Amino acid sequence: MRDLTRRHLSALAAASLIFPGAARATIPSADASPCPKRIRLGAFTVTTLSDADVTIDGPWPIVGEDRDRSEMGALMRENRLPPDRFRPGFTPTIVQTGRETVLFDTGNGEVGFVPRPAGGRLGGLLGRAGLSPERIDLVVLSHCHTDHIGGLLEGGTPLFPNARYVVGAREFDFWKDEARLAAPPDGNEYKSARVFRSHLLPLAERIRFVNPGDTVVPGIDALAAFGHTPGHLAFHVESEGQRMLVWGDCAHHEVASLARPDWHALFDMEKAQGAATRRAIYDMAATERVLIAGYHTSFPSLGYVTRDGLGYRWIPLTYQLDR
Ligand SMILES: [Zn+2]
Repeated sequence: MRDLTRRHLSALAAASLIFPGAARATIPSADASPCPKRIRLGAFTVTTLSDADVTIDGPWPIVGEDRDRSEMGALMRENRLPPDRFRPGFTPTIVQTGRETVLFDTGNGEVGFVPRPAGGRLGGLLGRAGLSPERIDLVVLSHCHTDHIGGLLEGGTPLFPNARYVVGAREFDFWKDEARLAAPPDGNEYKSARVFRSHLLPLAERIRFVNPGDTVVPGIDALAAFGHTPGHLAFHVESEGQRMLVWGDCAHHEVASLARPDWHALFDMEKAQGAATRRAIYDMAATERVLIAGYHTSFPSLGYVTRDGLGYRWIPLTYQLDR
């Protein structure tokens, strides 16, 4: 083994003497820095930012709560992943259309699923993307769980002082219902209902309510992705024929959710509908080969979907769209 390695290394060294350009080409450029990730989509610029860096228990039962733990263990081993540790992405996406700067989801903020210092990093990272909270014109929410709306406020005031907001009409009505506060106080529903009241309800007069099929701004349309929450939305983004789907929480784990879309998800509020939505969205993504921005997939949380057996497989974006 050692001889092989040494021979391999000396071959590499020889190659770099003969082709000095090959060595130079491996020096990373600023554009290749992992966060933020920036790509072009037609005339639009797309930037993804990592709001949280945390390793948690899972993916079972976050994915596969209706299955035996051992089934997840086998799936993870098959994919060379640990059976019981899981590092989800928490990745807001920014689209600059040339006319407007649009932020999809706001991360954990001070109150979300991932507390500081591991979570709530979005506001502090905007500068690295050449942006600032003041420059966000529109905040679009996929749904109202705490890891998506927690970043709306900072220190009790709106983090994005010039922003208008876009929220699904059905989603807003669901969370506004006082019945949400009757949920068990240690559960996700109750916590989201509280953060909805503290963080989103005070912004109501700056919110535009949308339904599936509505245009958010030219080039961005809302799409039904109900199930994770009753009004969960995805968004179709298109510029000069290039397309991207911002799918919010249509996957909690890029291997498990895609390989086993029918397995129930712990945080889905409507289990069967969540599974049906995953199948429909993944099928569209695979058929149309559309770029995906997947909030809980691994950073940079951009990729493609392909069919694989009875399920699907995530192909992470690497350098395909770099210029
Ligand atoms: Zn989420």
